[in-house]
Amino acid sequence: MEENCIFCKIIKGEVPSSKVYEDEEILAFNDIDPAAPIHILVIPKKHIKSLAEMQEEDTRLISQIYKVINKIAEDQGFKEKGYRVIVNCGKDGGQEVGHLHFHLLAGTQLGEKIV
Ligand code: 5GP
Ligand code: ZN
Repeated sequence: MEENCIFCKIIKGEVPSSKVYEDEEILAFNDIDPAAPIHILVIPKKHIKSLAEMQEEDTRLISQIYKVINKIAEDQGFKEKGYRVIVNCGKDGGQEVGHLHFHLLAGTQLGEKIV
């Protein structure tokens, strides 16, 4: 847990969020400023600053996050139609919150592909 991290505060319940999924290691909640009809942030409870900071020991946790993403897609009924997962990393990657997070976007035909 990091003192001044907004997502750590959400994990601790100090900042409210609209939770979508939670287990011992992972939390998912709705983005406060959605970029699509469905915009969920999926985060590890462990404070990892960014994808660039992940350690060998985090490999299982990161693959678990993808498993949770698929479960959310299934549970919310958009697994068939499709979805997009984005991880912004660092300044050039457009990362604003310094706690690793996976954007899960769905609910419409998403716009322009950057990659
Ligand atoms: P980034 O730009 O770092 O990849 O994405 C950060 C995301 O976190 C943004 O989409 C932003 O809307 C979201 N966000 C920032 N602060 C909060 C908050 O306090 N609550 C929620 N639910 N989302 C937040
Ligand atoms: Zn944090």
